Amino acid sequence: MDLSRPGRRAFSLPRLDVPPVELPGELARRTPPVLPEVAEREIVSHYTRLSQRNYGVDTGVYPLGSCSMKYNPKVAEVAAALPGFRRLHPLQPDHTVQGALELLWRLERALCEITGMERATLQPPAGACGELTGLLLMRAHHTRQGNPRRRVAIPDSAHGTNPASVRLAGYEALHIPSDARGLVDVSALEKLLDQDVAGLMLTNPNTLGLFEEEIEKIAAAVHGVGGLVYYDGANLNAILGRCRPGDMGFDIVHINTHKTFATPHGGGGPGAGPVAVTKELARYLPRPLVERNEDGTFRLEAGGPDSIGRMHGFFGNFGILVRAYVYVLLHGRDGLKEVAERSVLNANYLAELIKGAFPLAMPGRPMHEFVATAKPLKDDTGIRALDVAKRMIDLGYHPSTVYFPLIVEEAMMVEPTETETKETLDGLGRAFLQAAEEARRDPELLHAAPVTTPVRRLDEARAARQLKLRW
Ligand SMILES: *Cc1c(COP(=O)(O)O)cnc(C)c1O
Repeated sequence: MDLSRPGRRAFSLPRLDVPPVELPGELARRTPPVLPEVAEREIVSHYTRLSQRNYGVDTGVYPLGSCSMKYNPKVAEVAAALPGFRRLHPLQPDHTVQGALELLWRLERALCEITGMERATLQPPAGACGELTGLLLMRAHHTRQGNPRRRVAIPDSAHGTNPASVRLAGYEALHIPSDARGLVDVSALEKLLDQDVAGLMLTNPNTLGLFEEEIEKIAAAVHGVGGLVYYDGANLNAILGRCRPGDMGFDIVHINTHKTFATPHGGGGPGAGPVAVTKELARYLPRPLVERNEDGTFRLEAGGPDSIGRMHGFFGNFGILVRAYVYVLLHGRDGLKEVAERSVLNANYLAELIKGAFPLAMPGRPMHEFVATAKPLKDDTGIRALDVAKRMIDLGYHPSTVYFPLIVEEAMMVEPTETETKETLDGLGRAFLQAAEEARRDPELLHAAPVTTPVRRLDEARAARQLKLRW
């Protein structure tokens, strides 16, 4: 708006070569919309400048724990933009979209193989929607058994979407404490379980980055009271090709393809949260599912009376599913296994580099992410995890997640991901250590950080409470 000058345009329309027609009065606006009038050159500079003020996965490492903000291969973008995919209309008859249906069918098979499940819906457009879908499947299962239940158990380390989804699905959350190792307190769980518990939602490795060592016992305890076990597989990076939720005893799994299987995310961009289930639960899945005919062609199959119905229009976010399929093919079985190994190796390497200043919050060996704590630093210097995070921006790195999970004081949750080199991890480790060293030498600097950015430290509480929704 600042740059706007009347009459300036970023385009030129072809000369009118048909008779002009007045718009019907009821469709025409009385006053034209106020739009900026700028030249193309200025638009390009404006948006390029804005984009350069931001930090993104294409700019550098983005170690946000619990979110797998990793670099994704650009070839997945190229595939999703192929005209044969991009220009399809979702209402085209099946026989004209056989390639797209085959891709969906093959992706479903791949995700079922990876998770150890029987069938999957690709409709949910996000992890949180996958959670809701999974919980509605749980509800359908218990209702069908003539045994509706009221509560769903969640560990206190759970991602915030878990309790929110539980409420949205009409259940009450039953909170399960963690033990001193940061794992599910199994004896507490066993005491809290009863015939009113529909199931347990679990993240494994959990949000502390720790693998639930007693996972089979946990699953058996929940099954013992007739409940189902739900796997929050938003971040599958650590277990790809190494172990499968189905083999651990889970009944329902959601996957964030936009975290594990390509597609950059953040800022509410499109994602896909497929939900995979056991054979027993497949009848409840949203429909349509893609089926393969005897002659090798593909068709969409509507649901029977047990389906919970649709979770999204048409097929979900098709373009995101194309990226996920490309990612799976690109890596293959061995490559996906290597993704898991590297994500775990990278997290452990970085944790070792910084543990002198930021010790691990829990004693166990972390998987693809780790939770360190700035508590010792705070006790010594008054500098908090938040100040360290802000200083990391000055030092050229996106900060880690801070203050999550809630059960750790001054939590710093770091996930370097599998895509970073040793040099990048070394640089990131040095930046963490430098921030800790500066905290002792020049605490004012950390209180003031970031000092190099176009926007300095924000009042985050006010920014969250007093929204400015218009510029
Ligand atoms: C990101 C995440 C979710 C939610 O996924 P969205 O796609 O953001 O809705 C759920 N659980 C865990 C553990 C996550 O990391």
